[in-house]
Amino acid sequence: MPDESNSSGPELFESHQATVGRFSVARSLPVVGRRMIGAWCFADHFGPADVSPESGLDVGPHPHTGLQTVTWITSGQVLHRDSLGSEQVIRPGEVNLMTAGQGITHAEEATGHYAGMLEGVQLWIAQTDATRHGEARFEHRDTLPRIAFSSFEGTVFAGAFEGQATGTTHDTPLVGLDAHVHGEAAVPLDPTFEYGVISLAGDLEIESRSVSTGTLAYLRPGRDEVTLRSSGAHVLLLGGQPFDEKILMWWNFVGRSADELDAAASQWTAQDDRFGRLTSDLPAFDAPEPYWRRGARPVTR
Ligand code: MN
Repeated sequence: MPDESNSSGPELFESHQATVGRFSVARSLPVVGRRMIGAWCFADHFGPADVSPESGLDVGPHPHTGLQTVTWITSGQVLHRDSLGSEQVIRPGEVNLMTAGQGITHAEEATGHYAGMLEGVQLWIAQTDATRHGEARFEHRDTLPRIAFSSFEGTVFAGAFEGQATGTTHDTPLVGLDAHVHGEAAVPLDPTFEYGVISLAGDLEIESRSVSTGTLAYLRPGRDEVTLRSSGAHVLLLGGQPFDEKILMWWNFVGRSADELDAAASQWTAQDDRFGRLTSDLPAFDAPEPYWRRGARPVTR
């Protein structure tokens, strides 16, 4: 449950451990009590861990619908391949944005050449009802806006921050920012956005509250700045206008109803054309049994 010291201060949520491919990940979103930040609906921090040219993140072919995946690497390299025919090695300072729309299949594989540390974040953005039945799309940016204030510098990898835009396609106004904090920084915010600050490494103070690595600090809309203090924390700032559609998120799908997600899972199992074709040396994922078929109620936000 959120730890709220006062109504305007940050609400803190602990991440939980999960497994993706052969990596243990710290999942900061969704957590109990906070399912979205703007349109951001999923946040995993993976690594650091050693990888070889033959074995990396090793996430085999799997489908998505109704969401965008944002892959941001802070160390190492990953090969993205998808059913549109995209094949893109991603490195630190670059971003991969994949829009699933009605359906896509992708895999995250070893590069065949990179050995060393691998660390990064995998994020999802919910698509609006207006675009979620549309075509899939893949975007890559190798040049991204850099921002620098006193004691705070970073890279905008999604949306826009202080007028500096990535140029990637998004349905609703949002920002994804990777930054380092050296000292005390008053970071400007958009009052129409809600925000989450996640420390990827290093201890951090937000408005004089101590926030340990892996903790999500949630900030409600209405603020025009936040004060961060650290001797060198590496942080992620996610923000956006509150998403005003109720979503239902299950497995790799974002939809609006259990029936719709059931249909997507059945189509994946039947190898329906909806998700295109992607062959990989890695095994494809099987859809799990939906929890609502076992008697539980679907959780909408
Ligand atoms: Mn994926």
